[in-house]
Amino acid sequence: MGNKQKILVTGGLGYIGSHTVVALIQAGYEVVILDDLSNSSLMILDRIEQITGVRPSFYQINLLDKKQLYAIFSDETDLSAVIHFAAFKAVGESVREPVKYFTNNLVSLLHLLEVMDHFQVTNLVFSSSATVYGDARELPVKESTPFQKALSSYGSTKQMGEEILEKTAAVKDIQVISLRYFNPVGAHDSAWIGELPNGVPNNLMPYITQVAAGLRPSLTVFGNDYDTPDGTCVRDYIHVVDLAKAHVKSCGRLIDKKNRDSFEVFNIGTGKGLSVLEIIHAFEKQNQLSLKYEIGPRRSGDSPAMYADVTRAKEILRWEAELGLTEIVTSAWKWEQTLHPHNTCL
Ligand code: UDP
Repeated sequence: MGNKQKILVTGGLGYIGSHTVVALIQAGYEVVILDDLSNSSLMILDRIEQITGVRPSFYQINLLDKKQLYAIFSDETDLSAVIHFAAFKAVGESVREPVKYFTNNLVSLLHLLEVMDHFQVTNLVFSSSATVYGDARELPVKESTPFQKALSSYGSTKQMGEEILEKTAAVKDIQVISLRYFNPVGAHDSAWIGELPNGVPNNLMPYITQVAAGLRPSLTVFGNDYDTPDGTCVRDYIHVVDLAKAHVKSCGRLIDKKNRDSFEVFNIGTGKGLSVLEIIHAFEKQNQLSLKYEIGPRRSGDSPAMYADVTRAKEILRWEAELGLTEIVTSAWKWEQTLHPHNTCL
């Protein structure tokens, strides 16, 4: 027990965080979770224990509370790495509440960097997003594709977060891997953990599963007049279990000092673009049900198409997606059904 490498995970009870905690434990790491439960539930800690047989240490903390953060780092000595997920992520809300987003997402990052520096914890994996590219000028997007102006304050916090990290890693004893996620979807195949949207889902997959569960009358497809093969928007949907494994790889790379630069970035996607209609039809076919949907107007701020060039992740991080659309749509539906086991209204 005592000689396991210890990883601290902020936001470890959230959607991507919880899947990553499971993957870390299964890879032999000891995990310490920090989470303020603002968009997650303590029940997930029990679920992690159900899946792995291990209950990670847990601290309920908001990272804006720097004093408490210092206290946790002085208790949890010998941290091999930190993975930083904790952040607000609702794109629409970020447009209406920029100060809330800049404060939460950036001040918490600054606190974390200060405390890591103080306790000489030198490895950090950062939760970034394809949103840093803005309305990208080239497809597939490469890590070297220049950022366009962010379309939301959420996007700005990810761009600025990366800039803060790059500048800090250039001069301080800290090594950073920033993972730019494309569209995370799906759930753990045990159906013990998955996405728990707060209120009306903003994202496509939880909206689809809630319509299938009879919780919402129908799905609106946001526009079918884009310049794409079927007119609906194209995205790169990545299974959350694959995404979790990219974090395990990144931790190993930093701990083994295999990184080539103090700040490295990787696109984490499948490299394949899928349209909204393709997702709907795969969901219907694989789960043998029919989904009520209608075509509505475009949603403002949506790019017509976005998908990753994943060559860097493959060649340098030695990670690539293993799960496909079938596993995505079946695991998402299985998870939704565990949330409403008595709902038979399909
Ligand atoms: N979308 C949709 N209806 C919905 C939610 C999303 O048609 O109720 C579309 C949206 O226009 C986009 C894709 O699904 O093309 C993925 O949207 P999501 O919000 O999940 O992720 P984004 O790519 O915007 O980060």
